[in-house]
Amino acid sequence: MYIVDKDAKSFIDIDINSDFSIQNLPYGVFQTQEGDRSIGVAIGDMIFNLRKAEELGLFSQISNKKFFSSKFLNKFMKQGRSVWSAYRKRIFELLNQDSFLKDNIDLSDQLFVKQVDVSMCIPIKVKEFTDFYSSYHHAFNVGSLIRGPENALMPNWKHLPVAYHGRSSSIVLSGEKIKRPSGQILNPETQSPIFSKTKRLDFELEMGMIIGKNSKLGQPIDVNNTHEYIFGLVLVNDWSARDIQTWEYRPLGPFLGKNFATSISPWIVTLDALEPFKISSPIQDPTPLNYLRFNGKGNYDINLTVEIKSGLMKDNFTITESNSKFLYWSIFQQLAHHTINGCNVRTGDILASGTISGDDIHQRGCLLEITELGKKSISISANENRIFLEDNDTVTLSGYAKNNNFKIGFGSVSNKIYE
Ligand code: CA
Repeated sequence: MYIVDKDAKSFIDIDINSDFSIQNLPYGVFQTQEGDRSIGVAIGDMIFNLRKAEELGLFSQISNKKFFSSKFLNKFMKQGRSVWSAYRKRIFELLNQDSFLKDNIDLSDQLFVKQVDVSMCIPIKVKEFTDFYSSYHHAFNVGSLIRGPENALMPNWKHLPVAYHGRSSSIVLSGEKIKRPSGQILNPETQSPIFSKTKRLDFELEMGMIIGKNSKLGQPIDVNNTHEYIFGLVLVNDWSARDIQTWEYRPLGPFLGKNFATSISPWIVTLDALEPFKISSPIQDPTPLNYLRFNGKGNYDINLTVEIKSGLMKDNFTITESNSKFLYWSIFQQLAHHTINGCNVRTGDILASGTISGDDIHQRGCLLEITELGKKSISISANENRIFLEDNDTVTLSGYAKNNNFKIGFGSVSNKIYE
């Protein structure tokens, strides 16, 4: 790990409310208006062009290999934690207030672009997608609404982080429009299925870990060594069609109600950047089996927000304020469980947390929970109510960790629904 000093400053002017302090240094892929694609690091409202920096030999003291001329971060991520740390340290040296780049206008002109002048691209070639169900309050609330509080949780829930394998083909970036899906839906009056557009389109507030290093088939990852494999985190919106899901899911679980779209935020925030925001996980009772016992703090204190804006509204309406610290099963436990049978993970896999809810009504991470299975309508503006999402609604998830010294932001994942 390479932790940037809490008092460090960049020679780049960074607003105090910026997501991208010098303590953050998240990785992304951007494209200029001329179509030139590069890997970069966000710093304030600028991007530091890593491909260009590599071409100019600014990383030659670490390696002469070219990791950043690729369209994706996979080649770099595959190198593992010691290489990630060495590059993070070097990037910090190049961007801090004592950097030789500070007064070198010729070099700076080549190395920095404004974020507003470029568009973001999906930062990794996504291999596979797994979605967990790791928030106690979400599982309990949804289970209570369906089966009553006594039977809210399935008997396995507190013993293992349950999950399903999703699709990577439909993972899209923030900004992509989301098409309202159609499918089989049960007509409650006739108790027979009809084919229709979903009437119960929902968001799910999640975080996803990006797997950096391959693990070996047949070799589980020790829960206390999982950080060697996790490159960083992104925000995830696991779009869900509740009516399609309800009819199809028994007995094999989520399918077409989920795999029509999953969107992610463009900047990958590293575990190194998040290290100062580690926090103890909730007490687990019963104590999990040995292979799930993690030494130390397993959770992160990351504020998470969901906002909705209809086609008629000028401003966003904040519908959810949650936090990743509410996860019952930490990302380290999720990864250890995923590989305990010998299943391997690969560079570019995304493992998402499941909807993250707290115990307060304003901390609920999806509309199914907020509207109590679609029974309660909520006001999102003076003139509009919602039970589920309508066409032209834009849903924006954002996240940040903050202390007295600096802020580590994720930016956002924002997508508009079309018919
Ligand atoms: Ca989900």
